[in-house]
Amino acid sequence: MKLVLPPRLGPRAFDTALSAFAGVVGKDWVLSSDADRDAYADIYAPGPAEQWPASAAVAPASVKEVQAIVRLANEHKVPLWPVSRGKNLGYGTAAPRMAGSVVLDLGRMNRIIDIDPKLAYCVLEPGVSFFDLHEAIARENLPLWLSVPGNAWGSVLGNAFEHGIGYTPYGLHARNLCGFEVVLPDGDLVRTGMGAMTGNHAWHLHPLSYGPTFDLAFTQSSLGVVTRAGLWLQPAPAASLELVFDIPHEDDIGWVIDTIAPLKISGTIDQNVFIPSWLGKMVLKGQRRDFWDKPGAIPDWRVKELLAQYKLGYWQVALRLYGEDSVIRAKADIVRAAMARNLAAPPAEHWWHSGDERNAIDTTMGVPSAVPLQMSDWVGGRGAHMGFSPVVPATSEHVMGQLKRSRAIIAAHDVDFYASFTIGGRFATNINMLMFDRDQPEQIANMKSLFNALIGETAKAGYGEYRTHLGWMDTVMDTYDFNGHALRRLNERIKDALDPNGVLSPGKQGVWPAAWRDQAKEGRA
Ligand code: ADP
Repeated sequence: MKLVLPPRLGPRAFDTALSAFAGVVGKDWVLSSDADRDAYADIYAPGPAEQWPASAAVAPASVKEVQAIVRLANEHKVPLWPVSRGKNLGYGTAAPRMAGSVVLDLGRMNRIIDIDPKLAYCVLEPGVSFFDLHEAIARENLPLWLSVPGNAWGSVLGNAFEHGIGYTPYGLHARNLCGFEVVLPDGDLVRTGMGAMTGNHAWHLHPLSYGPTFDLAFTQSSLGVVTRAGLWLQPAPAASLELVFDIPHEDDIGWVIDTIAPLKISGTIDQNVFIPSWLGKMVLKGQRRDFWDKPGAIPDWRVKELLAQYKLGYWQVALRLYGEDSVIRAKADIVRAAMARNLAAPPAEHWWHSGDERNAIDTTMGVPSAVPLQMSDWVGGRGAHMGFSPVVPATSEHVMGQLKRSRAIIAAHDVDFYASFTIGGRFATNINMLMFDRDQPEQIANMKSLFNALIGETAKAGYGEYRTHLGWMDTVMDTYDFNGHALRRLNERIKDALDPNGVLSPGKQGVWPAAWRDQAKEGRA
């Protein structure tokens, strides 16, 4: 990818800044060739990756180096875009929101600083991947389980910082974070929570600070570079039982939510219950042309045929219980009885007991996997996906309304429909996966118009997205409009106070520092 300089920075000033960075990390860790830039491009970009170009990347190996780079960025007015492992697929990968930003690649900071099996937590640097942590736990045979996202290729902390979700009792990943170490935009170093006291022993255990609690202010945020954080882990259960219910019809999702959400809220079910529609299974069986060889969405009659042929329900609930065998049996009776009120067929049941192998692609058992990435192959070509992900109250009324609305908009754009609802408690996260071929301009144009329609109509109905791709960060922030966009104004005031030169992640989540606010109109999809 050709060099695009940061706004208002000339080539000489840029080179001077890169040399200064090289003085900190060594010249091998300042990456600025065309090939380097390609490596930090958005491989799932809806359209040309050149829309969100990094000018270079710099990869520090220690907190001191991060501080030095951030200070130099202020001196040279160079915008930085921190990533942990930069595998944020569907949301921008490692690419920055503002063209010409320098990616601050934290992948070299990959130490597992501590794992405590007794109190079930670990302390990580940002470069630690799900696979690294899983292996470290397995190597020492520690009684701890991870919670992993659908695609576990990336960083444990990076995913939690983006508010990623998993399908275990610890599935709201940002909620497991406890106690941060952060380099602020001026290079200062702060520890949150109990860690604000030198040598405090409860840093990663007590989730509140003395005074305001800042931890989550550094997630989906441009207020600091997190250099380590504590993360609570699930104690390995003695046993686990999976109950798989095939749910025949699209409209059944209403009673399914009304049945499962109360059990989740009351604690009978601990897990984040993932309920994908049929296409979630089909994408693992082949490409769309194996099942339907015409352009446009697969028609309903063909969907019905496929469901019959592959013995699939429209939805599948793979619900998992964890804990002592006797407790699981009692809970399973409650779950079966509740589901039996609307569903005659009993669930398929799979027991696991401590000492048994765990299924290597079962995300409900905390084993990292990249298999779900296969969905990018669905349409063929240079496949990619984006997720449209609003959050709705976990009741049939809201879920059905959301389903019908997005279903109609997606059908009007003639795109295959793949929805899922994940019951996280009092809310459900509705992820609509949209697959496309990056080399088909008409598919890209259609995706953009579809995504804009989904955001607009969903906000009008009273629901917002929890996370989005670079190209829509501003559009989604626009939808959080209470009191003349008071949230954005608050974000901007804090941003400008902490980051007067706007060097950290300008435009992240639609928050622009004063220094670059004029760039907000660029890079919108
Ligand atoms: P992953 O590799 O786990 O998918 P990324 O490294 O791509 O995650 O991180 C996702 C996003 O989270 C980044 O684009 C960035 O905005 C933010 N982020 C990641 N790591 C940090 C960090 N250490 N400090 C601050 N923000 C971060």
